Amino acid sequence: MVMTEAAREALDGILVAAWYDKRFGDLGTAAASVLAMLLRLYAHEGRPPSAKEIAAATGFTELETARLLTALSQHDLVILERDGAAIRGAYPFTQSATEHSLTFVRRERTLNTMCAIDALGAGAMCREDTIIRSGCHLCGVPVIVETRNRGMALDEVRPRSAVVWTGFRASRGCAADSLCTALVFFCSDGHLDLWRASGKTNDGRRLSVEEAFQVGKSLFADRALLGGG
Ligand SMILES: [Zn+2]
Repeated sequence: MVMTEAAREALDGILVAAWYDKRFGDLGTAAASVLAMLLRLYAHEGRPPSAKEIAAATGFTELETARLLTALSQHDLVILERDGAAIRGAYPFTQSATEHSLTFVRRERTLNTMCAIDALGAGAMCREDTIIRSGCHLCGVPVIVETRNRGMALDEVRPRSAVVWTGFRASRGCAADSLCTALVFFCSDGHLDLWRASGKTNDGRRLSVEEAFQVGKSLFADRALLGGG
């Protein structure tokens, strides 16, 4: 899915910074299927499902579901509220206010996403066309991206000069609070350069929106598949 050198380097950088080996390496099939169902319900309802709803959909008991949700939270794939019961987010989606939202066109559900890459990959994950609304990380001017072919192809990008910065900020256990804050849109190369010149960033890659879309697709396209597809 990743076609260019810059996109491949960005993907590698994200995989390392987000500890992907650790997060997915020892994840059991039960936890993976709970995650897939959780993401499907989240996208379908436009809000996080309860443990009870996940249990009903997967066939696991509520107790087992709660245990698997804790495991997913320890792997930083699901973010739980402080009380440990309710779901506050699951990459790519979050209940927190962020710079990025996406609308599933067919069902008219709008959700916030953790970062620009998550927003770009969510349509492929759900095999649905999406409209992504974000803004330039420097000037705030709206950046709007549409996907088609059930989220698998990039459609219109406004402004056409928009680019994505993928900064490799090590996630230290919670990507939402670290790495995700470094995966952002800019309205133009000029504004990305201005922002970088301010010294707020270190290692990372500048991607076209198409390249960032390829990275998002490769991270998320398989995440909500059930039973291996
Ligand atoms: Zn700008």
